[in-house]
Amino acid sequence: MSRFMKKAFQDFDSYTPGEQKNDGSYCKLNTNESPFPPAPAVVQALADFDADMLRLYPDPTGRVLKEKLAAMHGVAPENIFLSNGSDDIINFAVLAFVDQDEEVVFPEISYSFYDVIAALHGVNVRRIPMAEGFSIDPEDYCDLNQNIVIANPNAPTGLALSSDQIRRIAASNPDHLVLIDEAYVDFGAETVIPLINEYDNLLVSRTFSKYAGFAGGRLGYAVGSKDLISDLTTIQYSTNPYNINRISMRLAEAIVDSDDYYRVNAGRIAATRARVCEKLQSMGFEVIPSKANFVFVRHASVDGGTIYEELKKRFVLVRHFDKAPISDYIRVSIGSDRQMDLFINKLQEVLSINQASEE
Ligand SMILES: *Cc1c(COP(=O)(O)O)cnc(C)c1O
Repeated sequence: MSRFMKKAFQDFDSYTPGEQKNDGSYCKLNTNESPFPPAPAVVQALADFDADMLRLYPDPTGRVLKEKLAAMHGVAPENIFLSNGSDDIINFAVLAFVDQDEEVVFPEISYSFYDVIAALHGVNVRRIPMAEGFSIDPEDYCDLNQNIVIANPNAPTGLALSSDQIRRIAASNPDHLVLIDEAYVDFGAETVIPLINEYDNLLVSRTFSKYAGFAGGRLGYAVGSKDLISDLTTIQYSTNPYNINRISMRLAEAIVDSDDYYRVNAGRIAATRARVCEKLQSMGFEVIPSKANFVFVRHASVDGGTIYEELKKRFVLVRHFDKAPISDYIRVSIGSDRQMDLFINKLQEVLSINQASEE
């Protein structure tokens, strides 16, 4: 740290991104990326991209992309906010909507970025303890009269609330923001985008990173009432008006045009997930039922840290969170069938060695 860091940030714990080992030597199942190639139209759009256009600033309103997204979701373009990945939305939303004397409420076990953003903006947090089996009891979030952030499906558990349960939460906190982070919704959960016209406090965030295999392209968006979107835009224009680069904007348009392709891939992930869950159970894992493109699992006798380390030695990367009460678990992204076969194979090796050494 330099001598110049502000006092407020001198002991600041930033978010720790998953390891990015992308030289091809690892089977990478640690950051929930898609194993599938881009849709043909996206590859074509990149090939056709006119490099000379990079001289010019992108359209700060993102009109074309907003129109396509609006048509896909049955909302108006004014209901859509575009961002450089959806982490930006959480940042802008806390900046725009959470006063210093208010709280941001979220589940104790959730995406750790919420904690970081709240700390960055110096607002109070309230972490609600989990219900049975790391689930979220929607009743714990009703009538709080506070700002609420919930990932649905939740990370890293993969458990999802229904649209009706989220409706109750939004309806019972009418004077505060309810931000639903739908980063993983396309793998089997219910979206609450259709509710944004009923609840002007409901903001839904989405990303192309997981569903559309566009983590490297950095494109997220939020859907909400026109007024919420216009407030987010005020903040965005005051930080980085050109936050989506031209190439990503163009490719994102092609992604929306290819939605059928991505929907099929999400179905393939769900099918592979079911197969992997069954296999893991037969190998002695407790498997939390997931609606996301990852599974959160714990072995009966070998702890999460050991499995993580031993898999890494065998060039398979999974995610391990070294903190109570989830340190026994590993989170495994659902990749292609071939990747998952390799994972299961290496996992069997790890378990047989570790169980043998216990005896
Ligand atoms: C991956 C993820 C995001 C955001 O990803 P971006 O790449 O910034 O769009 C947001 N929320 C959750 C819960 C995630 O897992």
